[in-house]
Amino acid sequence: MIVGAQAPASAGTSLLLEVSDLVKHYITSSGTVRAVDGVSLTIGEGEVLGLVGESGCGKSTLGRTIMGLERADSGSVRLNGTDLIGLSRRRLRSHRRHVQMIFQDPFGSLNPRSNVQRLLTEPFEVHGIGTRAQRRQWATELLQRVGLRPEHGFRYPHEFSGGQRQRISIARAIALQPKLVVCDEAVSALDVSVQAQIVNLLRSLQREAGLAYLFISHDLGVVGHLADQIAVMYLGSIVEIGPKSSILRGPLHPYTKALFSAVPGLSATPRNAAEERKPALAGEPPSPLNPPSGCRFHTRCPFAVDRCRNDPPSLRAVAPRHKVACHLV
Ligand code: SF4
Repeated sequence: MIVGAQAPASAGTSLLLEVSDLVKHYITSSGTVRAVDGVSLTIGEGEVLGLVGESGCGKSTLGRTIMGLERADSGSVRLNGTDLIGLSRRRLRSHRRHVQMIFQDPFGSLNPRSNVQRLLTEPFEVHGIGTRAQRRQWATELLQRVGLRPEHGFRYPHEFSGGQRQRISIARAIALQPKLVVCDEAVSALDVSVQAQIVNLLRSLQREAGLAYLFISHDLGVVGHLADQIAVMYLGSIVEIGPKSSILRGPLHPYTKALFSAVPGLSATPRNAAEERKPALAGEPPSPLNPPSGCRFHTRCPFAVDRCRNDPPSLRAVAPRHKVACHLV
């Protein structure tokens, strides 16, 4: 079986991904959008990092830049010590099999003209792995692994429900036994009951195969359920990052406090989209086209002092693996 189980890695035991000072700006006719502005983070083997923040904070761009779907302006993305930025196309392709992505809209990421068996044998073909018979066998095993039946292989994406289509995307993403899967709002478009099933599937795959996830979501309930570490992003920067237990029990950054106070009793139950959109914060985030000087949160922060308007706080350690960017912490 190509997708063999391996012992789950303990969180943080061995460094898998190291993102350092990553920058991705977009030049537009209205100015420069500072979508990702000097982000650093790490993910250990088998670890789940939940990346949260309001819509437009840059978290999806960060995921796409880590995947190489967007070209970084500067910084590094090291996977098992190899910097993926600047690799030749050929070398990047061989490393790509270790990092896969699941998108919010499985319909958009699955070719509607390919049946599921074709969709699931394609990753092996692209990388020249196995014979035709082996690839078909692996496709069947993948279907079973994500809770679908072998006969589903002969159907096309439009013949499935949203949850089933996301199961197919997940099967495709894990086909090559990646070490890291970037999940970009992977359950956001699904009904609450289906969300729970897909979250449980992701959790069981992670435990069985020692997968690591960068789990990008605006749904704090789902992140609270899945993550080992949580990173909070605001206007292109990480403002707080640390173990889930520390962030949920004692968030330190005023933005994190406000964000999480909107979620009464974070529980294992995923919340629906309408619930998550209730902001506890006053006002909208400023535009990344013209971010505020100093601390970017100062225009919404109830604790802002003069220094905050001019001096950008750096992300500094306040406890083992827990970092915060705030002058008052
Ligand atoms: Fe608020 Fe100042 Fe801290 Fe920024 S640095 S979060 S404005 S107190």
